[in-house]
Amino acid sequence: MLIPQKEPFYRVVDREQEVFEHAWKNRLPLLLKGPTGAGKSRFVEYMSYKLQRPLINIACHEETSSTDLLGRYIIKGAETVWIDGPLTRALKEGALLYMDEIAEARPDVIVAIHPITDHRRQIYLDKTGEVIQAHSDFMFVASFNPGYQKGFRDLKPSTRQRFVSISFNYPKPDLEAEILMGETGIDKNTARKLVKIGNKIRNLTDMGLTETVSTRLLVDAAKLISSGLFARLAVEVAVVEPLTDDPDVLSALKEMTALMI
Ligand code: ADP
Repeated sequence: MLIPQKEPFYRVVDREQEVFEHAWKNRLPLLLKGPTGAGKSRFVEYMSYKLQRPLINIACHEETSSTDLLGRYIIKGAETVWIDGPLTRALKEGALLYMDEIAEARPDVIVAIHPITDHRRQIYLDKTGEVIQAHSDFMFVASFNPGYQKGFRDLKPSTRQRFVSISFNYPKPDLEAEILMGETGIDKNTARKLVKIGNKIRNLTDMGLTETVSTRLLVDAAKLISSGLFARLAVEVAVVEPLTDDPDVLSALKEMTALMI
């Protein structure tokens, strides 16, 4: 459980900081909606620093169960001891709990979190028979990649309505260029070219890409360029290759981006 030592680099994009601060004051659960690589996790780290509250991260995947979050008995020598899971720890210690990609977790996870997202702010540990009441500083934050892409799970309306929600999207070009410069020290001209490439690919809707260029991919390309990799190659390996395995789409994208950097 950690508070970042120094302020994480985060460029505020819209009014997300203000919303987070008010959600925090009211101890309302917060849902960050948006595609992968759009800055959601970085934003939560930044808010953990700003509010000086420790952060506990849980990356959800299809195997994540409520036992993983709440805790379990383990055998230690001749004894059986109870070990709190990250959710129980966050509740007891008053941390910011960030559950990334919450919709990917197993359905029992969603059931387990319901009582901490309403006025009860508590969980029942059926294995120990205890009710754990949240510390007054506990706050619950989750992220969710809306299900417009194939392969992503949806979140039930009854769960969504428990959260104050913010949409994250790719930042406007000037801002995204600033993020690339701030994150990697790359020059303005190259940053702008990378953002142009990102937006060009984002606007190609007929390529059948399941995910498009995230800020993360552009940051990765900027890092490679800034460490000395030939810019065209950096774009190929950090931006184009991660998007698709289809040879025709790959060569079309490589050809297009080569002319832009
Ligand atoms: P998500 O959690 O939405 O998948 P991340 O928070 O991991 O995405 O963001 C991916 C990367 O993009 C970060 O590591 C950071 O380099 C960069 N990034 C995206 N948005 C911002 C922003 N607003 N300010 C600073 N960096 C950002």
